[in-house]
Amino acid sequence: MKIALISSEAVPYSKTGGLADVAGTLFRELDAMGHDTALFVPLYASTKGRFHERLADLKIEIWIPIGTATKKCRVYSEKQPSGKSTGKGTVYFISNDEYFDRPELYGSAQGDYTDNDRRFIFFCRGVLEACRILGLKYDVLHCNDWQTSLIPLYLNTIYRRDPVFAATKTVLTIHNMGYQGLFHPSSLDAAGFGPEIFHPDGVEFYGKVNFLKAGLISADILTTVSPTYAKEILSPEKGFGLDGVLRKRAAALFGVLNGIDTTEWNPGTDVLLPSKYSRTDLGGKAECKRRLMSKCSLEGTQDTPLLSFIGRLSSQKGIDLLADSISELLGKGANLFILGKGDERFQGLLKKMASNYPRRVYFLAGFDEELAHLAYAGSDIFLMPSLYEPCGLGQMIAMRYGTIPVAYSTGGLADTIVSSERSYDKYLTDGNYSTIKDTGFLFNSHNRDALMAAVGKALSVFRQKNIWQILVGNAMEADFSWKNSAEKYLELYERPVTIAR
Ligand code: ADP
Repeated sequence: MKIALISSEAVPYSKTGGLADVAGTLFRELDAMGHDTALFVPLYASTKGRFHERLADLKIEIWIPIGTATKKCRVYSEKQPSGKSTGKGTVYFISNDEYFDRPELYGSAQGDYTDNDRRFIFFCRGVLEACRILGLKYDVLHCNDWQTSLIPLYLNTIYRRDPVFAATKTVLTIHNMGYQGLFHPSSLDAAGFGPEIFHPDGVEFYGKVNFLKAGLISADILTTVSPTYAKEILSPEKGFGLDGVLRKRAAALFGVLNGIDTTEWNPGTDVLLPSKYSRTDLGGKAECKRRLMSKCSLEGTQDTPLLSFIGRLSSQKGIDLLADSISELLGKGANLFILGKGDERFQGLLKKMASNYPRRVYFLAGFDEELAHLAYAGSDIFLMPSLYEPCGLGQMIAMRYGTIPVAYSTGGLADTIVSSERSYDKYLTDGNYSTIKDTGFLFNSHNRDALMAAVGKALSVFRQKNIWQILVGNAMEADFSWKNSAEKYLELYERPVTIAR
């Protein structure tokens, strides 16, 4: 098949979160499976900085209308597929310095860039124009999140009769319903649409233009990143105001669990670890813990449980619940490692905690890939108290590194962590460990008591080394590779469309 993945971020070129992992890895997986695969991403300053030597200017000049202005778009491709790509897939970079040559992808800690509507209108049209001019005919345009959600709408309207897209299906993957791309109605103008689509059955959303909604009503197939989240978003609580729209399109909505890049995330080969290890030889994990503790100046021994959190500092990630529980966690004898970037309020709170307990709590406000690898490997327990979690990658990575997740039972966390209600005490006496299939601990109410009860249970098992080893082994054995998910996407790409153009 000829497949184009379109994403506002993708590893290894750009990343703020899981979307980048998903887009970059799915691209490589489909490519390795022999499909004619392309990836379209914006050319950000950070991408240019790291990849400039590999960029080939395709020497096409496109002028994109943004309202009454026109903006120049250049298209680059990567000379050689980077990293582990085994096939011939092409990466296309959509470039305009005014829009993408900035320090961050979407905004700073103070807030989003105020022209994000124009930036991603430009990106969407840049992709479509590049396809037209280069004659790239794809069977599927696979869009991701609000930043690329205008593409299905464009194909149903302005590009409807374009022969390049005559046989092109659109798939839109929702990575997080909490981010919809809400803008002033003038965005419609900027995007080249008329007022006829600004109504409740169109892109209007409480007086604003909703980019994600444009995709939800226009794409042929909708997917989200776990089966549980696919059900949850049909409810008002998790649908963020778009549950009604999604219910109407329920027949076209599918949950496909994300995988992780099991070559990048592999404790047996990870070059960022001071010592490698495997399920059958965990010696290197202890060395990683020693290194992590010393790097972060944390006190204690191998027997001191080390709990970690890596993720965006936003209320979605349950960071307020975590911040609220820190004293109690320390009271249980655990040390805490937190790596995250985001909301200034949470950064301040966590900085204060770390300075109050310098040898027990480590906090780094920032994005640090190398430290993240060491922390996944060197921790004992990985905390994911997310209020909602479409899929979540952290828990899968942690499990692969033998670090046991404690998480709220929601979305992809519920789909990937095996947590029975069992009491482990009885195994101390009967010793029939082979019946333990658990890989972590889930809690069912989003509050401090439930979190602390789950942590308490995890810590008591942590002290029973023989049982803990079983959990660690189970977690490390779980299969989170992309192969299954890529095959599910292929099935969907081939599925007949359910809405007429
Ligand atoms: P999100 O909702 O942010 O997409 P996911 O759990 O799906 O959350 O994916 C987050 C990804 O980003 C994981 O690979 C995680 O390790 C990584 N990550 C998040 N924050 C940081 C950080 N501050 N430093 C390094 N890696 C991070």
